[in-house]
Amino acid sequence: MNKLEERVKELHKLLYDYGYAYYVLDDPIVPDAVYDQYLHELIALEEQNPNLILPDSPTQRVGAVVSEGFQKVTHTSPMLSLSNAFNEEDLRDFDRRIQSIIDETPTYVCELKIDGLAVSLLYEEGRLVRGATRGDGTTGEDITANIKTIRSIPLRLRDTVTLEARGEAYMPKSSFMKLNEERAERGEILLANPRNAAAGSLRQLDPKMAASRNLSMFVYGLGGDGAEQNVEQHSEALKFMKEQGLPTNKETRKCKSVEEVLEFVQEWTAKRNDLPYEIDGIVIKVDDYAQQEELGFTAKSPRFAIAYKFPAEEVVTTIIDVDLTV
Ligand code: NAD
Repeated sequence: MNKLEERVKELHKLLYDYGYAYYVLDDPIVPDAVYDQYLHELIALEEQNPNLILPDSPTQRVGAVVSEGFQKVTHTSPMLSLSNAFNEEDLRDFDRRIQSIIDETPTYVCELKIDGLAVSLLYEEGRLVRGATRGDGTTGEDITANIKTIRSIPLRLRDTVTLEARGEAYMPKSSFMKLNEERAERGEILLANPRNAAAGSLRQLDPKMAASRNLSMFVYGLGGDGAEQNVEQHSEALKFMKEQGLPTNKETRKCKSVEEVLEFVQEWTAKRNDLPYEIDGIVIKVDDYAQQEELGFTAKSPRFAIAYKFPAEEVVTTIIDVDLTV
């Protein structure tokens, strides 16, 4: 094995171990920035040496294996990941790529990238019948009982419509702080961050546990092609879901150019800490469904959307005073 192959193998091992701790145990062993750095090293090596891309490479997979404790759910269409942008140039490249394919200037929709976990909500004739995790993108876990404990998720929609809403379940900062204070009082290990706390809560077999965690959710898309709902644009889908009583995020903006996208990104990079929930970036999507279809998908992510990731912030450690004098 040459040096390059050895490094690829080493990166596979690291990324699998970190991914297992993050996705399966909901208990990361390294900061996201470390994981992302190794992942990007692997992506770069694979781009330069396509012969080294193995079908089970971490670059070819979404999310995690599905845990045994839950019923399995096959998603109607895959719940994919998003490709990432880390700076202005990446966003300009994304815009250029899109314009070169669709041959016109698209309208984009910019949304906050909520730091939680992807969930699918299935409504039949207006009733919530199933909630599922993204899992490995194709197969997720049936977490309906836990999903029903989230108060912002309606059990019934306004109309008797059948639809699949996809979104991000998350733990508000206030719930996370309260949870960790309680854990500190009981002498338990503190949870790493709201994202993993939310994922851990929703993958508890006892719904009472999930109920006590005060989770919330924002929906960010419809499963399927929108034909049943007569929807032709992503922004219309958001409006439709809002009208049906689903929790959409209000900090969403239509942008007519990459300059407007960059403005939105700058604005939220400055304001990100003012929100009552954590965000780790901005998601930018082409608004028009016909254009989305033309752009299509790679194995792991749509070509019509991208996630801009905020630069890693300095880790702030909170020291919680524990009274040891009993
Ligand atoms: P991602 O976080 O890069 O982006 C895709 C996800 O964004 C979607 O699946 C969806 O859940 C979410 N999202 C939030 N708001 C959205 C919106 N408005 N519209 C659309 N999607 C929205 O991809 P990923 O595959 O979920 O996870 C990768 C992340 O996990 C990286 O940040 C990585 O650092 C982290 N990770 C960390 C470790 C570790 O050890 N620390 C290990 C594995 C993964």
